Amino acid sequence: MSAVPSTALEIAAAVRSGQLSALEVLNDHLARIDARDGEINAFNLVMADEARAAAVAVDAQVAAGEDPGSLAGVPLALKDNLCTRGIPTTCSSRILEGWRPPYDATVVQRVNAAGAVSIGKTNLDEFAMGSSTENSAFGPTRNPRDTGRVPGGSSGGSAAAVAAGFAPISLGSDTGGSIRQPAALCGVVGVKPTYGMVSRYGLIAFASSLDQIGPFSTTVADSALLLEAIAGHDSRDSTSIDAPAPSLLESLGQGVDGLRIGLVTELMGEGIAPDVAARVRQAADALAAAGAQIGEVSVPAAAYGLSAYYLIAPAEASSNLARYDGVRYGMRVDAPTTAEMNAATRTAGFGDEVKRRIMLGTYALSAGYYDAYYGKALKVRTLIMRDFEKAYADFDLLLTATSPTTAFKFGDKTADPLSMYLNDICTIPTNLAGHPAMSVPFGGGSDGMPVGVQLLAPALGESTMFRAAAVLEAVAPALDEVWS
Ligand code: GLN
Repeated sequence: MSAVPSTALEIAAAVRSGQLSALEVLNDHLARIDARDGEINAFNLVMADEARAAAVAVDAQVAAGEDPGSLAGVPLALKDNLCTRGIPTTCSSRILEGWRPPYDATVVQRVNAAGAVSIGKTNLDEFAMGSSTENSAFGPTRNPRDTGRVPGGSSGGSAAAVAAGFAPISLGSDTGGSIRQPAALCGVVGVKPTYGMVSRYGLIAFASSLDQIGPFSTTVADSALLLEAIAGHDSRDSTSIDAPAPSLLESLGQGVDGLRIGLVTELMGEGIAPDVAARVRQAADALAAAGAQIGEVSVPAAAYGLSAYYLIAPAEASSNLARYDGVRYGMRVDAPTTAEMNAATRTAGFGDEVKRRIMLGTYALSAGYYDAYYGKALKVRTLIMRDFEKAYADFDLLLTATSPTTAFKFGDKTADPLSMYLNDICTIPTNLAGHPAMSVPFGGGSDGMPVGVQLLAPALGESTMFRAAAVLEAVAPALDEVWS
């Protein structure tokens, strides 16, 4: 048994008080990675040397009587689409081979400034496009709870790293569900903050109007701790909200007495597996028992979220990914003319799903189709925002499943993109609205794999959302408890 505690809050407290050294904590986690990441493949890169230097620096601060910060000595894993200065950042794509960013993402600067020890870069679906981490150029990540199954995606490596105990906390990005869905499938907590709460500076862009960075952890409190550390205004992101980081930890114990929580009708029926829907109802009952008023609420346009997303996100991606031209970043395949070099580089460098998205997006934005596809999708986006606004007139929070099923087996959905896209049916509407949402583990499905329930809040409603999450965490059934 290791003497190192399992949560970030406990580790930081022990390191700050000098009870435990950051180096001991790090070595314990590096040993776990050595023992099991060959099988899991959560990491594209383990930054052992840099992490040791960071841990030694934290220990020196403690020895000098200084406080290293709220994440003192806490090992943290970074999704490999977050820029790390001088350290390969690949987006799990061949096209970025050999590229080293000249700067750190704002979130990386902030976790470092809070005393965290960045332990490695985690695997993802190439450019964060996918729901299973099977689209990585470096091979899939395996679900630590059953290595025959996917961890979800696109932040599958960050979710698996936390579920496997390689790091107590990690960062991912969520454009249409890429934090919440893998959190649900791996049985950990995952949070997508309000759009603009966390700086996107140094997050390699997929769909800029939807992308948000957020935390993974094993406990609700650790996600609150990490979100407090990374949130807050950043002048280098023009969409950053000009407000200080919210105080979340202090609201965790406040309970849900009197809160109005709505079950979204459109996301309870068709397409949601019965065992998952049963857990959502059980979660609603638990919130009611804790004093919340539960009702049903309709968000009609949510049913069109997926269709709108698969026009808007690829449209933005086709523009964002135009920069990978063989000149400015990473790989180049030489050819006689510049145009041929661009084409050869992109043909060799991008995987099939990324190519599919670029084609979808280019088509949706092309003259003659723009109004019919992209323009219409933007209108649907506005309707979704209005429907949420109406729902939040009557409810403080909404509750749905995070993912329509538990973790599926490798290869089950790779042949049919639509079945893969349907994974995000419950998570996408909040990205389109710009609202916060989080997944909290809530027992298992009929196959014994984790189920996540999703709490949704209006913009900047994080502290209410975390209060309800803490209640759900406290009463969540064990994974192996019979569900029916
Ligand atoms: N699975 C969705 C997609 O493939 C969402 C991805 C994400 O949130 N980055 O686009």
